[in-house]
Amino acid sequence: MPSVVRVEPLVTARALRGPFDYLRPDGARVGSLLEVPFAGRRLPAVVTGLADDSEHELAEPLRVLPDSLPPDLVELGLWMAREYASTPARALSLLLPPRGARERTRLWAEAVRAPREDERLTERQRALLASLPRFAGSDLAALRRLEARGLVRIEPRAQRRSPSHAAVEARRSVPDLTPDQEAALAAILAAEGGTPEGRLLLHGVTGSGKTEVYLRAAAETLERGRGVLVLVPEIGLTPQMIDRFVARFGDTVAVLHSKLGAGERYDEWRRLRDGSARVCVGPRSAVFAPMTDIGLIVVDEEHDGSYKHEGDPRYDARLVAERRAQAHRAVLVAGSATPRPESVHRLRRVRLPRRVDGAPLPPVRVVDLKECSGPIHPDTHAALVDSRKAIVLLNRRGWSNFLTCRSCGRVWQCPNCDVALILHRAEHAVACHHCGHREPVPRACPDCGSVSIARHGTGTERLEHDLAALGRPVLRLDADVRDASQVLAAFARAQRAILVGTQVVAKGHDFPDVDLGVVLDADSTLRFPDFRAEERTFALVTQLAGRAGRAADRPGSVIVQTIDPDAEAIRYAARHDADGFLAVELARREALRYPPFSTLIRVVCSSTEPGAAHAAAGALAARIPGALGPAPLFRLRGRERSQLVVKAPPEGDGRRQAIGRVEAAVRETAGEKEHRGVSFSVDVDAA
Ligand code: ADP
Ligand code: ZN
Ligand code: ZN
Repeated sequence: MPSVVRVEPLVTARALRGPFDYLRPDGARVGSLLEVPFAGRRLPAVVTGLADDSEHELAEPLRVLPDSLPPDLVELGLWMAREYASTPARALSLLLPPRGARERTRLWAEAVRAPREDERLTERQRALLASLPRFAGSDLAALRRLEARGLVRIEPRAQRRSPSHAAVEARRSVPDLTPDQEAALAAILAAEGGTPEGRLLLHGVTGSGKTEVYLRAAAETLERGRGVLVLVPEIGLTPQMIDRFVARFGDTVAVLHSKLGAGERYDEWRRLRDGSARVCVGPRSAVFAPMTDIGLIVVDEEHDGSYKHEGDPRYDARLVAERRAQAHRAVLVAGSATPRPESVHRLRRVRLPRRVDGAPLPPVRVVDLKECSGPIHPDTHAALVDSRKAIVLLNRRGWSNFLTCRSCGRVWQCPNCDVALILHRAEHAVACHHCGHREPVPRACPDCGSVSIARHGTGTERLEHDLAALGRPVLRLDADVRDASQVLAAFARAQRAILVGTQVVAKGHDFPDVDLGVVLDADSTLRFPDFRAEERTFALVTQLAGRAGRAADRPGSVIVQTIDPDAEAIRYAARHDADGFLAVELARREALRYPPFSTLIRVVCSSTEPGAAHAAAGALAARIPGALGPAPLFRLRGRERSQLVVKAPPEGDGRRQAIGRVEAAVRETAGEKEHRGVSFSVDVDAA
């Protein structure tokens, strides 16, 4: 019997790394959660290993916590720490059960024996006995009297707090699959999990019935006695997937997402942990669902940016899902209408090239913004006048992009970040979209006193205002809108309306009668200084096209406004030619050695001290031969920033060694006195 536990106390400091040895409490195993004394504090800790003895003097853990992690999740956490150049403690802390909640218990009453013929009972007591077993609730006093007579037993029991959408709705009928769907399903069911050919990419146009394929594959996986994990983009706006899984599989579906209360989240976690729920649906973090024996992992809308975690470790849930699939010998299915070039390169592709309803994809017109002065081209205007229901996408919140003084040229900037402040007219404020800084709308220029202030550019708030001239409801959806579901419901109900918004309007909503989609400024994504700009622009136009043209009685259409009508991403999207786009994009990536032909590792150094970030990045660069940079980034939240980029081999030992080298260089540099005020953020597979 091993007498020593190796544990990782959950500290965030990069320099402190375990494992540390403690005496093994009774019953502790890999995955047990403990509370341990550590550096004069009490800390939660995860057991990552057992040992027979230790060369250290051992302390005793303070207690064993009631929940534990499945051992394979511990393994996954340690892998994430290495893969994303983080620490085991930071990675493991992402896997813990939802905090701040415990099981809720209620008193449960059940019958012990039936009353005898001659036993005297009131009407009320007879009714109570007939209602058993159940939670005691407000009848506790009366039930206690029956308990005293030996008729009833009362004891505490866990009561599940079920998320509101878990109410099982009427099961929808299950449609017969189309031949394309049959073929895709057969490929999934025949695949051998945990092998390279068991990783599939379901590339299907919007409306091709991908979800129905997931549902069938899930049903068969459950039939085979194994669990199903379904990842979806950040939930708020796309509850349809959850509803469809709950409708098909009922109570065995657990939902994990941030909108749930702590208690509900905890109960769902417990149901997955003890196996009473065998299907989990949730966003990025659901990849850590505490399930055993997973047979199928689905990553829906795999191109979605929300799968990348912004905190440390900066994990990519798509790759973590692959790793988990491998450990469980599960089949992995990533689905999208606009798959990433990486996925096309890595995964076995299965296609759904047609819409289930047989409708053609809507024609896409590209109009040249150089031909007009305002934000809306005359042709776009005419199409909006004709349309019944239109979606207009503009990737900028607020009223205008920036303010300048007409007399001296002053630009209003955020005091904390090197970016312009954006006017939000309804709130009488100018705001920074990076740090949240706000100030009142300026009346006069503080430099020269002029009251002549110019507003430049158009954001969604102004567009909403301008389009109201068309004489129909204009609804707006962006991060400034409190209740997105209300806006979406109002748009769905309307006979005639325009939905204006940022990228969220192109995501996953299923409105049957939209007949026009407009991308107002395709250049805003295309000009983004990032190697994914083309991919994002292609996806945006294609996804919007998927929303338009679902009207039964009218062909839909799409208009894309741009100052660069010849851009490849736009030309291919206009032809619905995903294969053509992927071919040129992969060739470009290969030529420039971008992913999937390399691993991009980015390190961002930041500090409030002037010059410190740049100096640290320089010291780091000196430790990493071949690193690109340091290059300054714009100041953010009062911190100067400087970044370094390392291009490493795409996979295998070369990738692992490069990550290890960067991690070691960061640790050494961060440990040096002169860089004490600098924080370092490492991003492997940087976007
Ligand atoms: P995708 O996820 O590829 O965009 P969905 O799975 O949402 O497509 O399917 C689009 C619509 O078609 C949904 O309303 C769905 O219920 C319906 N559908 C899917 N498969 C079939 C089928 N085989 N027969 C009839 N309707 C189907
Ligand atoms: Zn001025
Ligand atoms: Zn700011």
